[in-house]
Amino acid sequence: MSPPVPPQRVAIFGRPGSGKSSLAERLGLDHGYALVRTGALLREAVRRRAPLGVRGEGYLKAGALVPDDVVAALVAQALAAVGDGRLLFDGFPRTLGQVEILVAWGRERGYRVDCFLDVAIGREAAIARMGGRRVCPTCGATYHMVSHPPRHDETCDLDGTRLERRKDDAPEIIEARQRVFEESTQPVVDHYRTHAPGRYRRVDGEQPFEAVYAETLRALGLDA
Ligand code: ADP
Repeated sequence: MSPPVPPQRVAIFGRPGSGKSSLAERLGLDHGYALVRTGALLREAVRRRAPLGVRGEGYLKAGALVPDDVVAALVAQALAAVGDGRLLFDGFPRTLGQVEILVAWGRERGYRVDCFLDVAIGREAAIARMGGRRVCPTCGATYHMVSHPPRHDETCDLDGTRLERRKDDAPEIIEARQRVFEESTQPVVDHYRTHAPGRYRRVDGEQPFEAVYAETLRALGLDA
């Protein structure tokens, strides 16, 4: 079955360094998608010392995946807070266990993701990009000093906060996160490509940001 065009609910996938979070932000701003970003939800829960954050903290620092039940609980909380409009999952589902959780939500209450967007990029290109990545500690906006720089020298375009490098963007952690993607999340992408081809879309993530964004808009039927 083909997704509604444009899709109402999208899940975006990509290696760390693929630019998927910047794409998600642009889609949110330009096309009204509410973002459910598991990485940001986890970091926020850690900052607040919420019980789910306390459980996830060690995994997050190591660049390892946080247990599925912690992620599912955070996503469920976030879904309760957003309305019925356009929605974009950035970072969920990230394991086959989380695919199962989504299947269960579908069975229990008809919950359905309309489109699985794969931002495809090779390992080496992804690693090269991660060194330039910066994030706003206040609002979570992401930038890249080469491919998607802020307007003013290392400060956030949205609120002027000085940008930071994420702790899990340290060089030794970057390798580990690529491995985690290959072992845990690539099977999720492969799953949707083979089991839900009508809802699967692939874009070439190795292009410059604006080109990836343009291809994404075409893939989602948002370019009209
Ligand atoms: P990236 O996509 O660049 O890895 P994110 O902000 O999406 O960055 O994720 C940062 C970290 O948050 C991950 O390395 C992992 O520890 C944790 N995380 C995010 N989403 C999930 C998820 N769905 N399942 C388990 N862990 C997650």
